[in-house]
Amino acid sequence: MRFQQTIRKPVTCSGVGLHTGCRVSVTLKPAPQDTGIVFIRTDVGGNPRVPVSIKHARPALLSTTVGVDGVQIQTIEHLLAAAAGLGIDNLYVDVDAPELPALDGSATPFVSLLLEAGIAPQDRRQAYLKVVRPLEVVDGDKRITIRPAAESRVTYTIDYAHPMIGRQVYAYDCSRDAFVGDIAPARTFGFLREVEALWEAGLGLGGSLQNTLILSEEGLLNEGGLRFDDEFVRHKILDLIGDMMLLGLPVIGEIEAVRSGHALHARLVSRILESRDNWVLISAQAPVPAGRLRELPPSLVASPSRD
Ligand SMILES: [Zn+2]
Repeated sequence: MRFQQTIRKPVTCSGVGLHTGCRVSVTLKPAPQDTGIVFIRTDVGGNPRVPVSIKHARPALLSTTVGVDGVQIQTIEHLLAAAAGLGIDNLYVDVDAPELPALDGSATPFVSLLLEAGIAPQDRRQAYLKVVRPLEVVDGDKRITIRPAAESRVTYTIDYAHPMIGRQVYAYDCSRDAFVGDIAPARTFGFLREVEALWEAGLGLGGSLQNTLILSEEGLLNEGGLRFDDEFVRHKILDLIGDMMLLGLPVIGEIEAVRSGHALHARLVSRILESRDNWVLISAQAPVPAGRLRELPPSLVASPSRD
């Protein structure tokens, strides 16, 4: 078990929200151990706090949103993915608008910002949720499965009837280097034919070729082209990594997602938390009751000693 981590100093960035189009400034700040990720709306009286948790997840199209008492923060998934990918557990996030900035549409600007702040190990070890029996959520032809595994891995399949996408499959073995190099740079994408409908729905108002890969019927409108041939499926993995932060702690298991999206990612998180017999908590802090310890294989019970 590794120690919990936060950042060494506050860092700030600003930009435009992808869906609201609002200008927004974000300051990431160190947070004490066992805080998790907590958003603070500095533009709302009383500076309400919204902890990242499935309990606070709010239904939203095409993005992940958390809210408490009518105060929301939208499109949090790319920042959450950056934190997850770098193993940052505790963070305060001051934000002065209802949506995080899109930046370049990937998680790389958030990764750079977090690395600029520096990563600070803390005194307590990070608890993990280890899947011991498989779980699946299905919605028509979309599905996600999580199975027990020694190391975390995500395999994602997408299938779009578009000449630049088609069927793409990507397997990501979770590691900091693979996240930073292979997953974080993948940008969000959308289809030109859907743009007007999105605008009518009040979404995508801040979308542009600077923060979204936009596909016409024939090809890609972005002049610089793709960062990877399979940038689309890599971005879906990025979104999944961010959305899994709604669990509140890292999960160990092998995830297989097919044609999935934010709503099904959130359903998987809920299903995991409801299915108490399908996972064990590996924690150095909260001792597992002695009776329960005997039921678990020794490999699943972490030693509280530090090395
Ligand atoms: Zn995304």
